[in-house]
Amino acid sequence: MTIQEKLSQLPQVNECLKGPYGQKWLESGYRKIIVRSIREVIELKRREILGGSNPDVSIDALAGDIENKIRKHSAYKLRPLINATGVVNHTNLGRAILSDRAIANVTATASGYSNLEYELSKGKRGKRYSHIKDIIRELTGAEDAIVVNNNAAAVLICLDTFAKGKEVIVSRGELVEIGGSFRIPEVMQASGAILREVGTTNKTHLSDYENAVCGNTGLLMKVHQSNYKVIGFTEKVPIEKLVKLGTEFNIPVIDDLGSGCLISLEKFGIYGEPTVQEVIRQGADLVTFSGDKLLGGPQAGIIVGKEKLIQKIQKNPMLRALRIDKMTFAALEATFMQYLDEEKALLEIPTVRMLTQPVEVIRKRAGKILAPLMKSISAQADLKIVPDQSRAGGGSLPETDFPTYAVSVKPLNISVNALEERLRLSDPPVIARIQGDALLVDARTIQDREVKTLVHCIISAIIN
Ligand SMILES: *Cc1c(COP(=O)(O)O)cnc(C)c1O
Repeated sequence: MTIQEKLSQLPQVNECLKGPYGQKWLESGYRKIIVRSIREVIELKRREILGGSNPDVSIDALAGDIENKIRKHSAYKLRPLINATGVVNHTNLGRAILSDRAIANVTATASGYSNLEYELSKGKRGKRYSHIKDIIRELTGAEDAIVVNNNAAAVLICLDTFAKGKEVIVSRGELVEIGGSFRIPEVMQASGAILREVGTTNKTHLSDYENAVCGNTGLLMKVHQSNYKVIGFTEKVPIEKLVKLGTEFNIPVIDDLGSGCLISLEKFGIYGEPTVQEVIRQGADLVTFSGDKLLGGPQAGIIVGKEKLIQKIQKNPMLRALRIDKMTFAALEATFMQYLDEEKALLEIPTVRMLTQPVEVIRKRAGKILAPLMKSISAQADLKIVPDQSRAGGGSLPETDFPTYAVSVKPLNISVNALEERLRLSDPPVIARIQGDALLVDARTIQDREVKTLVHCIISAIIN
């Protein structure tokens, strides 16, 4: 058969679409994607023929390739993956994973209409922030609360409301940068507030704040050293003392807590993370924290504090640009509700569960991952459970090690880098850490429902 004859046997796109395969594809897929996939496969075959080979070009023979293309083109770009890094709140991997209750509430609220800005008892327009206010007040002990897009927005709107064109006094030891894009001096500049640095990197005294107070001071600010630690010869001013100073001069004190923990983690041996309740009790006028760090909820920035200050934020037109949507509200309200019962929160909110689960539970999970791997790939990899350390991540609890167990996979026929890449590109992707010539799969951040899929991905990556 000449090349010309062979080329003429290639099916037309329409032929593929009209046949039984095409009908099947069209029932479940998008026409544009299906047409593109068919075109690509036909083009591939055309090149093979022009290159001198003689492939089977019947639709039956092409269907498998076309289906693979359809699957590839139909996959979402943002997709779920398995976090085997042990970093609980990994900002690159989407930070907190939501609880089942939060997810259920999002589904219920977003799939229909809701009373987002409607007051059912009065039959008229309501405020979107009112739904969530009471539960936050109950949990934190604050007079009032409001919620915006993320904690960066929370800090921004506080600065804009109370310190535009005014000075904000911050310790030099607390001029933090979070993940590159949030830097206190830059946020300050963007808001129009004037940063008044006091003290030194390692030591700041109350007198430093006191000496800096002037007629143009808008706020006294504390920023939680979320992702770093200053150790050695150090001194910070406790919030109570700052509050006393603020009261004396009638200047509000704001504490940017960052993580926003509602459960004291000290009974789990985790120190250095003050709870929101504590800081409110110590008298802070405004406290800001993230929804998706230690709280374990959706991305949000929560501002709690004195009613008259929150009311002022409520009137800031900037709020409209930073407002959160109904899905966030639904997830956030459900998450907060879970904190009403601390024991349940510890089990049901994935972030707090992963951080506080007994190491024996993690070891058991590692065992559940190891056992099926031993059965299938012990000839192709050295497999064992190793003790290791996980991290909280997401800019909280720096330098705090969380003892954990990981499954160590040392491949014998491929390099560990090749294994890491295959897992990263598998479906679903698995993100794990290389240590020496082995890949460590930290069982802390693996969900029980993911174990089977994870095992399958590792086996395929080793065998392929
Ligand atoms: C994380 C963090 C922020 C930024 O919070 P986002 O919710 O990521 O916007 C701001 N300040 C501190 C101290 C933080 O730890």
